[in-house]
Amino acid sequence: MKQAYEDMSGKIIGGLEAGGTKMVCGIWDTAGVMQSRILIPTTTPEETIPHMIDYFKKWKIEALGIGCFGPIDLNKKSPTYGTIMRSPKKEWSGFNIVRAFEDALHVPIGLDTDVNGAALGEVTMGAAKGCDTALYITIGTGVGVGVYCNGALVHGLVHPEGGHILIQKRTDDTFEGCCSRHPNCVEGLASGVAIAKRWGKKADQLADQPLVWEMEADYVAQAIANYILMYSPQKIVLWGGVMHRKELFPMIRERVQKLLNGYVCHPQIETDIDHYIVTPGLGENAGLTGAVLLGVLALKGDGYVI
Ligand code: ZN
Repeated sequence: MKQAYEDMSGKIIGGLEAGGTKMVCGIWDTAGVMQSRILIPTTTPEETIPHMIDYFKKWKIEALGIGCFGPIDLNKKSPTYGTIMRSPKKEWSGFNIVRAFEDALHVPIGLDTDVNGAALGEVTMGAAKGCDTALYITIGTGVGVGVYCNGALVHGLVHPEGGHILIQKRTDDTFEGCCSRHPNCVEGLASGVAIAKRWGKKADQLADQPLVWEMEADYVAQAIANYILMYSPQKIVLWGGVMHRKELFPMIRERVQKLLNGYVCHPQIETDIDHYIVTPGLGENAGLTGAVLLGVLALKGDGYVI
């Protein structure tokens, strides 16, 4: 495998972190310096896509990487590759985001999920730099998990959907969950939407209510304990709107240790968990950085790694 960053001087790469509420578009040169970054509200494809095409055309990008909300078809052999599948964002269901940019820009396009993109950013340049296996977890409007395993982003039948793993509901929680498919998945019980629906207020108005955060830490910790047992990550990067409340981090770390109960024997978990479950090194730019890296890989073609 050859490094994708070699011989890339002078190239201008576009990145798009496509989210359900906003599209984050950026331009990087291949020295890793951001030249420009803009936000475009996510409305309908007809309204949102042309704004982004104009932006990327103006910069004359040579490749585009997209980290997109899902579910999305990532199988390059599939006739529907690049299509957003049955999404709660109805206007985008069935929309082929790769084809839309390919037809307009005529440049190589790289694609992965938004959270896989953020995981790639963090293992390349952020808090998980140098790890072979790491996770990027976002607890925001929804819950998503990017999985980088043995040096590659994980895809399979579709792609991992770690936000919808099933967890144990607390006996003191009468909320029915906000996921339309599962009564007790982590997104349904611990996302920002779940907090707001359960308590009737947004998270930032609940700062003085300890039970809100005890419950939140418990649910997130349950999910993380399961991810540790399944993937054995060397680093867990945890972020998203809900995690801006930094007090959650020590609560979650302690709960993860309790749930694992000494079973996973490693100092990272037993004595150094403060450096194991961490905030992103790239801050709010993890997703955009990862998207750009997907663009670099698309430009270089098969046989390259970041
Ligand atoms: Zn669910």
